[in-house]
Amino acid sequence: MKSRLRTLRPLFMVAALIAALIAPASAAAGSVKQVALTFDDGDSELHIRQAVAVAVATQTPITFFPTGKSLRRFPNLWKAIGDAGIPIANHTVNHPSLTARYAVKGAAGVRSELQGFINLARSLNIPVVPYWRPPGGAWNANVLRVAKSLGLTLSMWTTTFADTAPMCKNRTIVSYNKASSGTGTKVVVLGHVYPYTAQTVKLLAAVIANYDARGYEFVTISTMVKGTASNINWAKAALAVSAHATDPKKRVPTNPPVPIDHTNTKYTFAQANGITCR
Ligand SMILES: [Zn+2]
Repeated sequence: MKSRLRTLRPLFMVAALIAALIAPASAAAGSVKQVALTFDDGDSELHIRQAVAVAVATQTPITFFPTGKSLRRFPNLWKAIGDAGIPIANHTVNHPSLTARYAVKGAAGVRSELQGFINLARSLNIPVVPYWRPPGGAWNANVLRVAKSLGLTLSMWTTTFADTAPMCKNRTIVSYNKASSGTGTKVVVLGHVYPYTAQTVKLLAAVIANYDARGYEFVTISTMVKGTASNINWAKAALAVSAHATDPKKRVPTNPPVPIDHTNTKYTFAQANGITCR
């Protein structure tokens, strides 16, 4: 893969998108290597749409872990995504550290965040799946016990898009293409859909092409953890791409983002995001 990318570098931006567009969404039947692409938080409506747009263009199953706050901000968009069968899992209502919250408020404090997410989704008619991911990855036995009592299964990650604060070093992106470095039979990739992670959705097509070339099957968290069959309706998912955040009658046409060359480590954070790397 490496040498091929090097050869294709001048054409990579075009090649990555084309490769992703023509790549099958899953490897041959019987594949034992699985990758789950997951996206947390959901503070950027645009990046939520663009992640779904790339997923639809490549028919690649993905999983979201939005906060309850995001469900509240973009209820119609999340409902369209959930109705299409793209799993939406629990990332708490307000994104606190659950270990810190347990220390201060005990089990009830943790329960209100996780059950609050479930209640909110129910009240907004947004289908959710019984998996949870602790904000900041902070969990312990106490927090886990509360989540289990609510029927929630923990879902952490094995590699990331490096799209959180530590990605900047000497004004240059570090671990830029970490998302493509997962190995083993079950890879869970953590990404974010919030305002400063434009590069995540721009990298997505290339990351998909990378795992596809290495024989991975793309699965949702539900499929990876419990073998639950993925039931994504791609026609509905295509409509979800342009679902308005709040108004079911309005549409917001959205295309997949223009991909960036993930092999170019000289790309600065500023170039990728239009802001300065500090
Ligand atoms: Zn988060």
